[in-house]
This record gives sequence, structure tokens and C-alpha cells, in this order.
Amino acid sequence: MPKPVLLTVDDDREVLRAIERDLRRKYAGDYRVLRAESGPAAMDILRELKLRNNAVALFLVDQRMPGLSGVEFLEQAITLYPDARRVLLTAYADTDAAIAAINEAGINHYLLKPWDPPEENLYPVIDDLLEDWQASFPPQFEGIRVLGNRWSPASHNIKDFLARNHVPYQWLDIETARTDAEVQGVVDLLDDEDKRDLPLVIFPNGLRLRRPTLADLAENAGLKTRAAEAFYDLAIVGGGPAGLAAAVYGASEGLRTVMVEREAPGGQAGMSSRIENYLGFPSGLSGADLARRAVVQARRFGVEILSAEATAVRLDGPYRFLKLADGAELSCHALLVATGVQWRKLDAPGVERLTGAGIYYGAAMTEAMSTKDEDVFVIGGANSAGQAAMYFSKYARRVVMLVRGSSLATSMSQYLINQLRETPNIQIEFNSSVVEAHGEDHLESISVMCSTTNEVNRVPANSLFIMIGAAPNTNWLADVVERDERGFIYSGRDLMRDGKRPKGWPLDRDPGLLETNVPGIFVVGDVRHGSVKRVASGVGEGSVAISFVHQYLSKVI
Ligand SMILES: Cc1cc2nc3c(=O)[nH]c(=O)nc-3n(C[C@H](O)[C@H](O)[C@H](O)COP(=O)(O)OP(=O)(O)OC[C@H]3O[C@@H](n4cnc5c(N)ncnc54)[C@H](O)[C@@H]3O)c2cc1C
Repeated sequence: MPKPVLLTVDDDREVLRAIERDLRRKYAGDYRVLRAESGPAAMDILRELKLRNNAVALFLVDQRMPGLSGVEFLEQAITLYPDARRVLLTAYADTDAAIAAINEAGINHYLLKPWDPPEENLYPVIDDLLEDWQASFPPQFEGIRVLGNRWSPASHNIKDFLARNHVPYQWLDIETARTDAEVQGVVDLLDDEDKRDLPLVIFPNGLRLRRPTLADLAENAGLKTRAAEAFYDLAIVGGGPAGLAAAVYGASEGLRTVMVEREAPGGQAGMSSRIENYLGFPSGLSGADLARRAVVQARRFGVEILSAEATAVRLDGPYRFLKLADGAELSCHALLVATGVQWRKLDAPGVERLTGAGIYYGAAMTEAMSTKDEDVFVIGGANSAGQAAMYFSKYARRVVMLVRGSSLATSMSQYLINQLRETPNIQIEFNSSVVEAHGEDHLESISVMCSTTNEVNRVPANSLFIMIGAAPNTNWLADVVERDERGFIYSGRDLMRDGKRPKGWPLDRDPGLLETNVPGIFVVGDVRHGSVKRVASGVGEGSVAISFVHQYLSKVI
């Protein structure tokens, strides 16, 4: 966190240097000493500091300056930093003006020039004021700030990306500017272009990005986007539980390992508000927590984690080349596909247009706070929908689950069904499907059809979370590996047809368990044909796959 600022202003360069030197000598350990040669130049510095949310503890300002006098500067400065302590530097002749300014600009102290020796005339005054400031000053958030509109899909994507990558950020909703002085303070400092082109991301170093792409965001938020090496023993695509487990086992067993993840490590599990059936966590744990722990573990063993999307695979003898969305390529001996599944889209009028503006796929936990005291609608009848309903019930006034079938018994775990029944603000509507979403720039209402009566009711709704099953997204691998009709990747015995090995298989052995029809390309987790779609099974497959990778590598290198 940057140190709070002591800002000194004087048009006399020699005096300015002297005061800066004396301040640095005593306070440089705890404060940043900045200087300006005029009031307007000092105001420019303050505006920039304010945008970065840096704290200013004290102003030490000469009274007699051309353009803007010390008092006039302080009157402007306190509109940005009302809590900063204010000291006016005056000549003896200006004493009366300084006393008058005690009221006008709320001066805390005036110092007569010269202040030598500082140990007697400067430091005791400043010590006292800084102690006072420290005691009353609440610590400020100094990380990334995102200014945008609650209903903007671009704002949602940025918040979601930062949250899931565990990058701390502060959300500033421009709609609240009138009632929130902090938001208004930031808005006042922006130029018209910034305000027109939201969301705006303000980084602690002052960089401002309007509507950044996720790749730009990753780059500037300190996530790694480029591979450090050209070649790896093992490259893993997908950082869900299966990919993370493979990464931890691979790297811990000495393989040079890179893991490529296009959104955030944790995958679907990272979106789960509470995983209750994962071994070793009797009171459950959130997916975000599981992901954070796994990422720390993977990094500890030296796994390189890239924030990037894999878009193609190319084979060249024993080498597998992975192409990334930014055009870069990395090569490896063994490639492990752990790309999981993505939410199935709801095909109803209005849904696509309002996605990100009140309609979200998955539990979208970043939106939970905004649903406070509102009604929330969740579509789906499986565990993911049940967990989401439980999570939102802590914030929303009422959570309505819209379930297409007539019961939850076959699609949801019994412990969750019990929890839903015991939560008074959750209501379950069976035989119900959303047939249309309405709203200008954000969701305002939904039409819900009852399949037993065919009646359609339009109900007001601001938040709709859709969890209606998932499908793999493996088209980028279509020319390389064999897939079933839904896109899940075949492995091991599933590749054998009438006892015959897959077409083009070059080796004198059958494809191994978790191995695809291309030797050295493995598949684990939800994306694998026939897999059990659970965190523990993904973790198990990811871990086990590493021993097959070793067997494979022992023959190619
Ligand atoms: C809301 C919810 C709650 C759940 N609750 C539970 C539970 O309580 N218990 C349980 O056992 N299971 C639960 N599950 C299921 C469990 O989360 C999944 O089975 C598990 O996450 C699958 O792991 P995976 O690693 O195979 O894939 P995923 O978790 O889907 O991860 C795949 C990753 O690959 C990335 N990716 C995809 N394509 C690319 C590409 N081309 N380039 C780079 N990266 C790519 C994705 O961004 C994603 O991060 C839940 C799922 C959801 C959605």
C-alpha cells in the first residue's frame, strides 16, 4: 500500500528544497514527501492522487505565492482531502493573514520562516498533527477501482474476472454518485471521455483503461499472460479442479508444467458458493476458497499459470504445439485437456440481449450484493441452482427457483433439498420455464410459463440466474481428437471399436486410460466422455493422469 503523502508547496525553489529535505529526513520512512512550485501544480498532483485513492496526511504551504495564495490553495485542496492537516508557512509580516486563515481555510497551524532548527520548530508541530491525523483516518482502499454501471455487461465481466482471479478491487457504481460522496468525488475528477466510455478501470499506478479487454486487464492486474519458456514437459489447458490437480501432481513430480486458463483458476467449482461433499471439509468450503488454496499449492511447486485462451493444437512428431488467442505458441511433450464444460444458453426472446444486464449464467456471486432486498430468480433444478439459491437467500428479499420438472428428487442432492425447504425466503416453482425476458437496458420482468396449465405470467424481475446444464466447448480440438456427438472427448477403452485401435493410432499398444486418440494428449474431468461430473472425480482424474504422462514421457524422451 503506498505511503500517505505530505505535500509541500512553495514558489521559492530554495525554500521548497529546504523544507522537502527536512521533511524527508524525519518522515520518509512512513510518508511520501511530494512538492510543487505553485498552487495550480499542487492541485494537479492532488487530483491524480485522489483518482488513485492515495491518502494525503498533511499540506505544508507557503502563504505568499503568485496566482494562488497558500490560503486559496488550501481552500481548494480541502474539497478533495478534507481530513488532511494544514500548515501555513508565513513570514513575520503575514502573521495577521495567517491568523485570519485559521477560520477561512481551517488552518491547523502556522509556522514562521525560518524554522531552524527543525527539531525545535518544525518536527514537534508536524509530529503532533500527524499523530492526530493517524488516529482519525480510516485506512483507504488503494487497489484497482472499477467505475461503471450495475446493468452494464462489460462492468459485470470485469468484476467477475477480477473477483475470480482473486484480484482485490473496489466497485464504484456511477448510479450511486448522487448519494455516495466517494463515487461523486471520483466522477468529478474524470474528463468527459472517461465518463462517456464506461466501465473505467483505474489502477493504483494511475493507469486508466476504458472498457479494457480481459487480456488487457490480466496484463495490468499482474496476471501472467505470456509463457516464460518455449517448451514444457506438460501443458495443461483449463484450470478447474482437474487441471489444477494435474498441475500440482505434475510439478511436484518434477515436470516442467504450464497451465493455461482463459478465465480464472477454479473453473466451475470456483463459482460454487458452497461445496459440501468434498472429502476433508466437513463443514464445506466455497469454490473460491478451494481454487485459491489450489493455486497457492500449484505455484509453490513451480507451476506456471498463464491467463490465456488455447485456440488450436498442432502436432509435429513427438511435439505438441498449443496456439493461444494472442497468436503466441508454446510447445510440450504431453498435453492435458481439462477444459470442463460451459453453461448451456437459454433460448428465449430477450435473454441474449439482456445477458450481463440482470441476466447471468451461473451463480455470478459478484452480483449478490446488488440483489440486496430484491427478488432473485434462479432457473434450474440441479445442485448448482440449489447452491445458488441458498447463497442469494442471504442477500435477497426472496429467491424464486423456477424448475422445469415436477420434483427435485432426481436432479439434486438430498442435503440441498433439505436446506432449501428450511430456508423461509426461498420459494420453489415447479413445472415452470422462462419464455421471455423484458427490459430496455436491463432486465425488468420475465414471462414464466406453467407447463401444466400453459398459462404465461409476466412478473417483475431485476436478477435472473440461469443454470440449466452445461456442454463442453471443444470445437478448437475438433480436427485433432475424437469427440462424441455432444463434443465430449473420448479416451482409453472408449476409443476402441470392435477391439480395434482408433484410426491413425501409431503405437504398438492400446490408448491408455485418460489418453485420447493422439498419443501424449490426455483428457480429464468434465470434458471427458463418460466422466462423473464432480469436483472429487476431476481432482482424482487430474492426479492419476500424471502417472500416465510419466509412462508416456519415458518412451518419447
Ligand atoms: C455452481 C456449481 C456448483 C457445483 N457444486 C458442486 C459440488 O458441490 N460438489 C461437486 O462435487 N461438484 C460440484 N459442481 C461440479 C464441479 O464444479 C465440476 O464437476 C468440476 O468443476 C469439473 O472440473 P473440471 O476441472 O473438469 O472443469 P471446470 O471446472 O469446468 O474447469 C475448466 C476450466 O477450463 C477453462 N477453459 C475452457 N476452455 C479453455 C481454453 N480453450 N483455454 C483455456 N482455458 C479454458 C475454463 O475457463 C475453466 O476454468 C458444481 C458446479 C457448479 C457450476
